[in-house]
Amino acid sequence: MPLKTNLVAKVGDGNHVMFWADSWVGIGPLKDRFPDMYAIAKNKRSLVKDCVFRLGSEIRWAWDWLRGPNNTAEWASFADLFKELDGVEICGGEDVWKWRPESDGRYVVANVRDQIMKMSNEAEEDQWGCWNRWVPQKINYFCWRATRNKIACKVELGKRGVPIHDMECARCGEQHEDVKHLMINCPIAKGIWWTILVWLKLPANIDFNNCEEALNVADNYIGSKSWKKVIGMICMVTMWQIWKARNEKVFQGTNVSIIRTVEDIKANLFLWLKERSKFKDINWERWCDFNVSDVIV
Ligand SMILES: [Zn+2]
Repeated sequence: MPLKTNLVAKVGDGNHVMFWADSWVGIGPLKDRFPDMYAIAKNKRSLVKDCVFRLGSEIRWAWDWLRGPNNTAEWASFADLFKELDGVEICGGEDVWKWRPESDGRYVVANVRDQIMKMSNEAEEDQWGCWNRWVPQKINYFCWRATRNKIACKVELGKRGVPIHDMECARCGEQHEDVKHLMINCPIAKGIWWTILVWLKLPANIDFNNCEEALNVADNYIGSKSWKKVIGMICMVTMWQIWKARNEKVFQGTNVSIIRTVEDIKANLFLWLKERSKFKDINWERWCDFNVSDVIV
């Protein structure tokens, strides 16, 4: 939910409040409560000051229409809207914004904080450059979380107060299981990345400093937009499978080998490329050899 939905304006001069889109009279924006009127209003981005004028001591409301109301339902809606506007005070001065109060009329700090947290997350998510439509949403989301150290590995759980008896990596047992170790530095992860990079015919001796670098490895090379998108996709799925294999060890005690993980990565990618990308007629044998430079252009 956009932050602004929970902000309510007390109109002063109406210079900064949008007539249809902001919450300023009743509960919620007028465009949501009177969608049929919004549909036939000429300027969807009018400010309140554009729609109000004074006639002596009286306040009048008016705006341009694409056409007038032309059926019973629209006339009823028209009447309701003007009833809503009737009695609105426009006091002049600055427009003031407030948080929508809780049902008992209080403004709760926690609510405001939650909204701000949500907003910053949404903004961060929007700005993240790696979103990839060819990869299922849950994998996109997992990778975004990994770049923000927000996955449930032992060290991160410990930081959040979950009692963890040993912090050792579930795969190698050699170091603490934080996000960077698990995804990048663990010998198992290194083996998987190495095999994938060799498959892609890219230099395999890269030391990634963090998950973001791994996801953006294609930026180091010259290639078409589609090629970079496919490489980005492969890196996302690689991270996802490293995490899946780790979970199989933690929750089922199964050791998934590097070779098996790489096979799963290739097979899932092949399916998703066929299903979700424009490269529908990619061929399995050639895919296994990443001999696709004439297809992915
Ligand atoms: Zn490890």
